[in-house]
Amino acid sequence: MCSAPEIAVFGSINMDFVTRMERFPKPGETVIAQGFARFPGGKGANQAVAAARMGGQVSFYGKVGADVFGEELLSGLRDNGVSTEWVLREDGTPSGIASIWVVSDGENAIAYTPGANARVDTDYIDRVINSLSNAKVLLLQLEVPSSSIAYLLRRLPVGRPLVILNPAPAQNFGKLNLKRVDIITPNRGELVALTDESRIERAAETLLTAGVKTVICTDGREGAYLIDKEHIQHFNPFSVDPVDTTAAGDAFNGALAAALAKGRSVEEAVLWANAAGALATTRRGAQPSLPTATEVETLLHDSPVVP
Ligand code: ADP
Repeated sequence: MCSAPEIAVFGSINMDFVTRMERFPKPGETVIAQGFARFPGGKGANQAVAAARMGGQVSFYGKVGADVFGEELLSGLRDNGVSTEWVLREDGTPSGIASIWVVSDGENAIAYTPGANARVDTDYIDRVINSLSNAKVLLLQLEVPSSSIAYLLRRLPVGRPLVILNPAPAQNFGKLNLKRVDIITPNRGELVALTDESRIERAAETLLTAGVKTVICTDGREGAYLIDKEHIQHFNPFSVDPVDTTAAGDAFNGALAAALAKGRSVEEAVLWANAAGALATTRRGAQPSLPTATEVETLLHDSPVVP
């Protein structure tokens, strides 16, 4: 039993059901699909696996349903070395499910049922707050109710853990206490949506004024930016051959948390995260594409960044 993890990831976990078909069915129509597969997902779970593959000691906090998918999702986390000690199985509620249709030109349509993720509530936070408070790094996203994230930020002690908020999917911050957020990690689209400001520097300034200490903006094939009150630093992207950008942001956030938990400086951590994000684009899928620490070290050693 490990009640004080190095890295606590608090968030969503779900099963993705992916059906491939020639074209979308019309209402009332049945089409014969070409294939079906299911994959573990959810930004919280993906980022927990990403941090564990980077060598972090990780515990996941969230809820699954008392169904067969919940069992499968938890054993998937454990297989990746993530502790599920604090995950609750919610009776009478299905696990989170994303039903994804993908047609031949790559377009998709998704019906997402949050299920147990919607039950990540204040009672649950009261149960886990001591454990969360003793972590070195706490990594959050916005796929569980934002009212719960707001409550969690209010309940955390000052100073520890270091809080990283990945504000995805973008939504109104409402009552979030951004003063308790050490690092916020929007991608460019989320940064613009959150601040209504298209220039990165100005948008980041809005978040810094709201109380966040550091903004790290991921910018896809352009790399990433590290911005605080004193300076802005651009990190060039690593040169890779991308085949699928799914979960690049999750790889980035997991690696960032793992590097910071190991005591690396924020600049070093962004460099690691930038490499992990790039590697995730070179393989298909979400969790299967998340790189290991050795792969990141090799890329850092071998590859020059794009000038
Ligand atoms: P998200 O997946 O959340 O939309 P981004 O698209 O900004 O996030 O990607 C996250 C990170 O992944 C980037 O900051 C960068 O480090 C890396 N990355 C993404 N796409 C590429 C690419 N084509 N080449 C190199 N690195 C990439």
